[in-house]
Amino acid sequence: MPEFDLLIIGGGPGGYVAAIRAAQRGLHVAVVEKERPGGVCLNWGCIPTKAMLRSAEVFETLSAASQFGVYADNVRFDFAAVRRRKDGIVAELTGGVAGLLKANGVTVIEGHARFTGPTTVEIFDPGPSPVFTDGPRYGAAPAGASTRTVTATDVIVATGSVPALLPVPGADLPGVITSDGAFGVTEVPARLVVIGGSAVGAEWAGLFATFGADVTVVEMQDRLVPLEDKEIGAALGRSFTQRGISVLTGCTVTGIEQSGDALTVEVDGATTRTIQADVVLVGVGRRPNTADLDLKYAGIDTDARGFILVDERLRTTAEHVYAIGDVTGKALLAHVASHQGITAADVIAGHDAGIDYTAIPAATFTHPEIASVGLTEDAARAGGHEVITAKFPFAALGRAKALGDTEGFCKIVAGARHREVLGVHIIGPSASDLIAEGALAISLEATLDELADTIHAHPTLGEIGMEAALTGLGLPIHTAPRSR
Ligand SMILES: Cc1cc2nc3c(=O)[nH]c(=O)nc-3n(C[C@H](O)[C@H](O)[C@H](O)COP(=O)(O)OP(=O)(O)OC[C@H]3O[C@@H](n4cnc5c(N)ncnc54)[C@H](O)[C@@H]3O)c2cc1C
Repeated sequence: MPEFDLLIIGGGPGGYVAAIRAAQRGLHVAVVEKERPGGVCLNWGCIPTKAMLRSAEVFETLSAASQFGVYADNVRFDFAAVRRRKDGIVAELTGGVAGLLKANGVTVIEGHARFTGPTTVEIFDPGPSPVFTDGPRYGAAPAGASTRTVTATDVIVATGSVPALLPVPGADLPGVITSDGAFGVTEVPARLVVIGGSAVGAEWAGLFATFGADVTVVEMQDRLVPLEDKEIGAALGRSFTQRGISVLTGCTVTGIEQSGDALTVEVDGATTRTIQADVVLVGVGRRPNTADLDLKYAGIDTDARGFILVDERLRTTAEHVYAIGDVTGKALLAHVASHQGITAADVIAGHDAGIDYTAIPAATFTHPEIASVGLTEDAARAGGHEVITAKFPFAALGRAKALGDTEGFCKIVAGARHREVLGVHIIGPSASDLIAEGALAISLEATLDELADTIHAHPTLGEIGMEAALTGLGLPIHTAPRSR
């Protein structure tokens, strides 16, 4: 008789959400976690970065307060206090997750799990944390604790991802860090090179630039945030450049050398150059966190990159074993992990559930902020859609003017024939909140006409979707018509 109905390996936004849903469905559930509850998202991802970015935003706003007729003299920041505020928020939220697991009757087992069979895992003390150096890790088994074996009817793998490594000479030098290591930076570096201009790299670049670092971003593709619509990437590049961040696109880093106290970064592009840095932050993607998991003993297959193969019900190639979150490589986002977790828990509890990845919003918390859902213009055309596009600038919105934040635009990609919304792409204030309307529009298969006909409160930033839809219909109210 198995000890648990369901054992979940990993307590991140995939694992802990699955555990709560499964417990609500009446299952006897355990979560094994080797670090701290909340996973990457709460501890060294979404939440701590957004907490620090908020400090940067406050500093930036106060520094420019005179444009609002407000005078704040001698505006300065204390980076140690910025980090302490972040730590407090993380502690509160991770404590909340631990409390929720307990309140739902979920057993939390501290330690590192590895498969010894499809539904049998061995749990052991993983030793010192590679991530946390500021005290005992949540998941450390008590000193001298012996290995324990746990069985369950079903198992969910929710072990997440870890930073990808940069395969160039010098990538292991002191001062070359990943996004995990960035949380250990105690002073704003004078010169920072960020390798990789996707969401993670762009957020750190913006944060340190606001706090006064001389920042260079090196991106291999022809634009920043290359997964976004090309107009969005181009707009972010222009904005970063105006803010004094050096943006080198179409460039690769070929090596890093120690030169005295500094690091010399060799960059290959249209021309070869070197850049001096005090810190080099590598943000070149993520790889599945399956080290020491012994997937082979469970018969779990992975793709060529090591991500676990799953179907739409999150089933792996091993019977009774499911996988959710980053480790499946579907879309490396916390809300996707959580949604997969809810779906897997429902499937295991015998409910009819499946996951659809059509309307997944994604946000990048740079300034200006970016958010998108659905197809980019290029992806829609490549997928055989005949499309129309509609754009509306924040500068034409009264609310954006009042906020003093007018940079950016909303671009909608719609089918040319039925005007169904295929993609929404926003760069500008509160983009990450505004995108919810786009996600709803796509999941309800709404058209431009329906977006335009929906009454939006005035004056709000939310009017941008309606105004963009009106533009797409050739009926713009607050921008001049294209030509008469
Ligand atoms: C800097 C940064 C910023 C980010 N910002 C955002 C954002 O703004 N929005 C967003 O949606 N996403 C963001 N992400 C991505 C987000 O953090 C991940 O998509 C999300 O955490 C994935 O959740 P998960 O449950 O799959 O895995 P994780 O959160 O990685 O959790 C996995 C857990 O499993 C544990 N574990 C692993 N192996 C074992 C084992 N063998 N035994 C026991 N425990 C194990 C780990 O310790 C970890 O706690 C960010 C990521 C980074 C790095």
